Amino acid sequence: MLDICLLGTGGMMPLPYRWLTSLMARHNGSSLLVDCGEGTQIAIREKGWSFKPIDTICITHFHGDHISGLPGILLAMGNSDRTEDLTMVGPRGLEKVVNSLRVIAPELPFKIKFIELTQPQERLELNGFTIDAFKVNHKITCYGYSLSIPRAGMFDVGKAQANDIPKLLWSRLQKGETLEYEGRTLTPDMVLGAPRKGLKVTYTTDTRPVQSIIDNAIGSDLFICEGMYGEKSDVNNAVKYKHMTFEEAGELARAAGVGELWLTHYSPALNYPENFMDDVRRIFPNAIAGKDKMSAELSFED
Ligand SMILES: [Zn+2]
Ligand SMILES: [Zn+2]
Repeated sequence: MLDICLLGTGGMMPLPYRWLTSLMARHNGSSLLVDCGEGTQIAIREKGWSFKPIDTICITHFHGDHISGLPGILLAMGNSDRTEDLTMVGPRGLEKVVNSLRVIAPELPFKIKFIELTQPQERLELNGFTIDAFKVNHKITCYGYSLSIPRAGMFDVGKAQANDIPKLLWSRLQKGETLEYEGRTLTPDMVLGAPRKGLKVTYTTDTRPVQSIIDNAIGSDLFICEGMYGEKSDVNNAVKYKHMTFEEAGELARAAGVGELWLTHYSPALNYPENFMDDVRRIFPNAIAGKDKMSAELSFED
């Protein structure tokens, strides 16, 4: 199972009724956070999710509305008695940016490991999540993230017997172990059928609509995408400031054939996102105007 929460839906600045855009995901005891603007720690508390299991923080880009809440989050994690290492992922320069912010949070009971992205497309395996980072097109270097939970194939008795695997090793191989046995290397695929459909969520904000988003969103159960502007007539501003209109996000969802679209990162001037959703649903019917603390529990099929 994969729990997803859109902690906030605002862009540029937090508002009394709308925190800044941020995503939290939980899987198998490990939590992952994407972005943390000012106030994200309050949104986490309002949702009732815990700071302690946050093993991974991914940052899309270094604009204040996506990272200025980091010192507070790190202190809250420290106050929750976390001692295990934290991994942070983000564009080149991440370590320098984080260490600058940490001048006001110098003493933490855990270490931070940094992974700086340098390629247009990179895959990471961290704490049970497969993370695909992909470069998008904003005013400064910015990445979107796909989070996937792969699912192994079913146990196949016939295959295990055909491969002459002793019965006492079946369950260890089924759980993913690779074993050495009587001079042979035994691998999980010797007892498993084809991999089954896993779970996938793609999150991208602060970007023009670009092909890398479609390529990475394909196969997503849930696609969370920025919609800075509701009015299609704001497309000139979207181009100028490197954001998107709702309809542009709808076009991406349709092109990628995702399961569901949630919009987020609204302009502070956009008071009623729902008023613009009919036009989006004409392009992509399964579209929802994201709301703060909206969450979903994604489960494997059957
Ligand atoms: Zn932003
Ligand atoms: Zn930005």
